[in-house]
Amino acid sequence: MLNPNYEVVVGLEVHAELNTESKIYCSCKNAFGLEVNSQCCPICMGMPGTLPTLNMQVVEYAIKMGHALHCNIHRICKQDRKNYFYPDLPKSYQISQFDIPLCETGYLDVLVENPDKSSYQKRFGVTRIHIEEDAGKLLHSANIDGSLVDFNRCGVPLIEIVSEPDFRSSAEAHAYLETIKSILQYLDISDCKMEQGSIRADVNVSVRKKGSKEFGTRVEMKNVNSFSAVVRAIDYEAARQIEVLENGGEIFQETRRWDDAKGENVLLRSKEDSQDYRYFPEPDLPTIVLEQEYVDGIKESIPELPNIKLIRFTQDFGISYDEAQVLLEEPEKCAFFEESVAKKVCSPKIICNWMVGDLTKYLREKKLSLGDTALTVDAFTALLKMIEEGKISNAAGKQVFEVLLTQEHADPAKIVEEKGLAQISDDSALQAVVDQVCEANQKSIQDYKNGKTNALGYLTGQCMKATKGKGNPAKMKELLLEYLQTH
Ligand SMILES: [Zn+2]
Repeated sequence: MLNPNYEVVVGLEVHAELNTESKIYCSCKNAFGLEVNSQCCPICMGMPGTLPTLNMQVVEYAIKMGHALHCNIHRICKQDRKNYFYPDLPKSYQISQFDIPLCETGYLDVLVENPDKSSYQKRFGVTRIHIEEDAGKLLHSANIDGSLVDFNRCGVPLIEIVSEPDFRSSAEAHAYLETIKSILQYLDISDCKMEQGSIRADVNVSVRKKGSKEFGTRVEMKNVNSFSAVVRAIDYEAARQIEVLENGGEIFQETRRWDDAKGENVLLRSKEDSQDYRYFPEPDLPTIVLEQEYVDGIKESIPELPNIKLIRFTQDFGISYDEAQVLLEEPEKCAFFEESVAKKVCSPKIICNWMVGDLTKYLREKKLSLGDTALTVDAFTALLKMIEEGKISNAAGKQVFEVLLTQEHADPAKIVEEKGLAQISDDSALQAVVDQVCEANQKSIQDYKNGKTNALGYLTGQCMKATKGKGNPAKMKELLLEYLQTH
């Protein structure tokens, strides 16, 4: 728990690798996990005399994200050199965008969950989105004296999404990051595989006395590589700064490295300012000039976004925030839900219950995605319809469901028949069972009439036993009550 006299202020810079076919300035393949230094050429290795050519798919993807975050798109913008030396950067400069980014001044509406599970909607400002190239990767191994460099990642296209310092808790930062990630996935412009580093965040943290309008000195933590680590890094750094201030110390503008295993950060370097990078316009690339029709056309291709779906699902279908989050985890799962609802053969609520419950549990256990299973919308909704109509019990439904997941073209009605799972809902058959059970249990009937209402549960159980679990429990209870009133 942070000192309540202080407020934490956080800004985020998200780097997302775009999943274009080829790299940003050459025709090398943009792919992860291939043989070291097999996907590079003189251009992305920065050989003297080579010339870059901008991959327009990168511009298109960045504009998509710009539209999704309600940004102004600069139809005329340029690219700049950011100069610094590091062994993973063979050119000793990175081509990025400095003063005129492709997208500027947007926002994102996010539903943030409170610790008590209630939620609130908040709008976070997006300062800018620009395009740039990734650097290579240093490989360290205990078997090697020194380090090796893999240049495959040089020239992989990135967008950097810079937020306003609008977050007032680690929970708000987390909700924003999850939303950014799901939007990237819905737009299908990034793989968002955190374990492969395809999405990473730099976190700026400062603290100030509550009620103060001025910002404190901010500290940057670079390349925090999971969203849960971002939460830990923010909480740790805010507590550290408050302690320094409370002890009469001063916060310095610096870059610190977050060590998630140790749960602490260490000073990396005092913070560099933009002038340290000696930015200048990239002389080898022309100004980017885009037609209005082109920019507008990209906007039309954008589907309904997950943050909007989240709000719609909770309002229209009576689904909770947590349930909606599970449905929205993957676009594939969400599409399956919406197609199932559109069939209108069973209620959205039962579809949600089964997808969030049994289906998600199965996929997580087997480490599968929905497309890896044999489940179809038709078979799934037909099964749920049988459950809702009382033709089979919930427990029998689970048995059928297991078959639907693994067997192609399985017909739920056939499985019910083959396995003898149909519930007895026929009134006369159930009436006979009820009469028989009641006659054999006169003592329980007397108990019930003397106010021992749990005798009803016992009688229902006896009826279920007599039908080998196939009696429709709701109908059976109805008939039992009728018997008790009339005898
Ligand atoms: Zn190349």
